[in-house]
Amino acid sequence: MTDRYASFVQSGAGRALVKRLGLPDPPRLRRHNPGDPLLPGPVLLGAATGGRLADPVAAILTAAGVDVRTGTGTAPPAAGRDDSAAADGPTAGHGAAAAADGPAGRDERAGNGGAPAGGGTSARFGALVYDATGITDSTGLRQLYDFFHPQARAVLPSGRVIVLGTPPAECGSPREATAQRALEGLTRSIGKEFGRGVTAQLVHVTATGDAGTPTSLEATLRFLLSGRSAYVSGQVVRVGTGPAVVPADWNRPLAGQVVLVTGAARGIGAAVARVLARDGAQVVALDVPAAGDALAAVVNEIGGTAVQLDLTTADAPTRLADHLAERHGRVDVVVHNAGITRDKTLGRMDADRWDAVLDVNLSSQERINDVLLERELIPEGGRLVAVSSIAGIAGNRGQTNYATSKAGVIGLVDSLAPALAGRGISVNAVAPGFIETRLTARIPLVVREAGRRMNSLAQGGLPVDVAETIGWLGWPASGAVSGNVVRVCGQSLLGA
Ligand code: NAD
Repeated sequence: MTDRYASFVQSGAGRALVKRLGLPDPPRLRRHNPGDPLLPGPVLLGAATGGRLADPVAAILTAAGVDVRTGTGTAPPAAGRDDSAAADGPTAGHGAAAAADGPAGRDERAGNGGAPAGGGTSARFGALVYDATGITDSTGLRQLYDFFHPQARAVLPSGRVIVLGTPPAECGSPREATAQRALEGLTRSIGKEFGRGVTAQLVHVTATGDAGTPTSLEATLRFLLSGRSAYVSGQVVRVGTGPAVVPADWNRPLAGQVVLVTGAARGIGAAVARVLARDGAQVVALDVPAAGDALAAVVNEIGGTAVQLDLTTADAPTRLADHLAERHGRVDVVVHNAGITRDKTLGRMDADRWDAVLDVNLSSQERINDVLLERELIPEGGRLVAVSSIAGIAGNRGQTNYATSKAGVIGLVDSLAPALAGRGISVNAVAPGFIETRLTARIPLVVREAGRRMNSLAQGGLPVDVAETIGWLGWPASGAVSGNVVRVCGQSLLGA
């Protein structure tokens, strides 16, 4: 389960050798520790002319304690804005009032001169955040170049690039939709180009309802900027209008929430149980009776409760619903993680392998959702988070059964998210790529090395990376995020 090559490269001697030989160079990724600052350095925030999100984003980040600097704005100062502040250009560590003053229109010097904002050429940023919602035509895309080109080498290791856009389907004209769709090419390429653990995402923020307010965007920005999203890159995340509840303490974003995690005895499920408990949740951990000892060890460690149940048995949904009703009266977050593989090429696959995989990975999720929803055990503000796989997006040789089940999980998100929006319940999935678990440790060496390295971060992810992503989708603050399938794959080339 350990990536010895990455450990070697990350040592001083290994690094020099790898550089000389031009071998893959997996960086050490920044991961979340409670209490950590969101970022290792300031955010450079820019906006295209007419962008609608730069000001709320500046307010969110400043309130989160981030040092927000502004630069390469091509927008004119907003009405009523203090022009003397604009003339000041980038500011180091200014307070909430200055940032709330708005980033748009500031610091023409950084854009024209090509020097990183902050004064000298040595300025380094924890993140570049760009509000591209003002781009309404392909010619306006030049503003992306103007902002990002001077900063291409100014992002710190494990830094972040976030571009904020409008969902093309919501755009007012074909030209605007075209320009907004184009943003995806930029972020996906930056994810592949910047290296050193820097990730890049496009966040589509709806222009309807209360979207763009601090409440709807904050959870997503906090997740994407922090070390929680270490292995998420090249993604398009949609932020809509669902209800979002800001936690009293962002170090415990799941405080008071009752969470069910299936397949929690080991691997990714055990990591999910640990991360969600760390973040304040009361965890109900479920696994098959045969995994009872391992399950007990997990719940003892995190102070949760265990349910020994085989999800494929006929009475599993009602037994589970009874347990949740009696012990907790509800379940706020359901994490459908349990999954199996039974690989064979299709011509050699017996029907049992097909049936077992489809039943555990997909049909059991449907049966459990049906009973929990029917009995109204998932309250308003509830969250369904399912575990898919990049195999469900790209397909995989020898995994027709598995890929069918995991693509079905994506279908479940697509169909249930709109159906449950009226009840305030969000439905999302994560699609892990190569994650270092017992499952992937069993893959033959050459195939394993290919799987590990063929992504922008040149390494496998850890179970905790999937767990952190599931955690974010489960937060009460993430109500505006529904209908998403977020890959946790280091921007894997598979299904890219
Ligand atoms: P794992 O085999 O280590 O853990 C799966 C857990 O699910 C086990 O504890 C198992 O006992 C439990 N489980 C299986 N069938 C069950 C049933 N009928 N009832 C109750 N529990 C059951 O696997 P993992 O690598 O931790 O994978 C977890 C999830 O992530 C799976 O859905 C898997 O398909 C998905 N995934 C994993 C990877 C990876 O690289 N490891 C990649 C993509 C997707």
